[in-house]
Amino acid sequence: MDLGIRGKRGLVCAASKGLGRGCAEALAEAGVDLVINARTSEAITQTAYDIAAKYGVQVTPVAADITTPEGRAKVLEAVGQADILVTNAGGPPPGTWTDWDRDDFIRAIDANMLTAIALMQALVPGMMERGWGRVVNITSAAVRSPVPVLGLSNTARTGLTGFVAGMSRQVAGSGVCVNNILPGLHATDRAVSLDTAAAAQQGITPAEAAARRKATIPTGSYGEAADFGAACAFLCSQQARFIIGQNLLLDGGALNVTV
Ligand code: NAP
Repeated sequence: MDLGIRGKRGLVCAASKGLGRGCAEALAEAGVDLVINARTSEAITQTAYDIAAKYGVQVTPVAADITTPEGRAKVLEAVGQADILVTNAGGPPPGTWTDWDRDDFIRAIDANMLTAIALMQALVPGMMERGWGRVVNITSAAVRSPVPVLGLSNTARTGLTGFVAGMSRQVAGSGVCVNNILPGLHATDRAVSLDTAAAAQQGITPAEAAARRKATIPTGSYGEAADFGAACAFLCSQQARFIIGQNLLLDGGALNVTV
């Protein structure tokens, strides 16, 4: 399917690997010129080089911490204006509900709620002026079903979801579609680190922890970043213009619900 976005300009945050990279690759395959971001200069530069070489689009790497005002300013300066925005950042650490103090919550809310809101506030007005835009926020399945060890994520991402529910309806009339994708368990480094943490907590090996977590998914496997990216690219397509304020759950059927 031609997604109709060749020549558009996009920003994908936290994209040197994992789900962000999956989104960047799928958008590049659809012909979108990109600015991509991560903190580690070498990794994001290599990723930009690889994606540009593979898909023949322009890819500009920006090494910056997207969760800080300085990092966002650096990224936004490189972007100028964007037609497509994919927000993403690292997830907060696991723990239990009594572990976290105010500073922990502020850090998580900054990274996984306020950063996405700040980026939308910076780039969506320009999209509205030009009459076309697409925003995808990478959140988490924790928005639909809380993960016991990820209380910080449960909290911050639900706040972002509430913001998007209201804001997406206010910008839709200007041709801007804002949606969230909710990853369940995906085969990325984040999954490996959560497997390792679960293994330590339960006194089992990381491989056993992974097997137990996979057994909770009807597909029997973790999701792949490439499939995640394809869903993101579709939400950024011309064809997605009637999809507004939705929360697309990509979890292999793990959440046992009817709607
Ligand atoms: P990942 O494989 O660990 O990749 C994280 C990417 O984000 C890397 O490119 C990393 O590069 C970059 N990054 C991290 N913190 C950043 C920051 N402050 N500023 C800029 N870039 C940053 O993680 P992932 O699995 O793709 O997860 C992406 C998001 O989805 C996370 O918020 C995660 O919690 C959420 N999620 C993942 C899963 C899953 O199963 N994978 C499930 C639910 C939710 P640098 O380290 O160089 O910055």
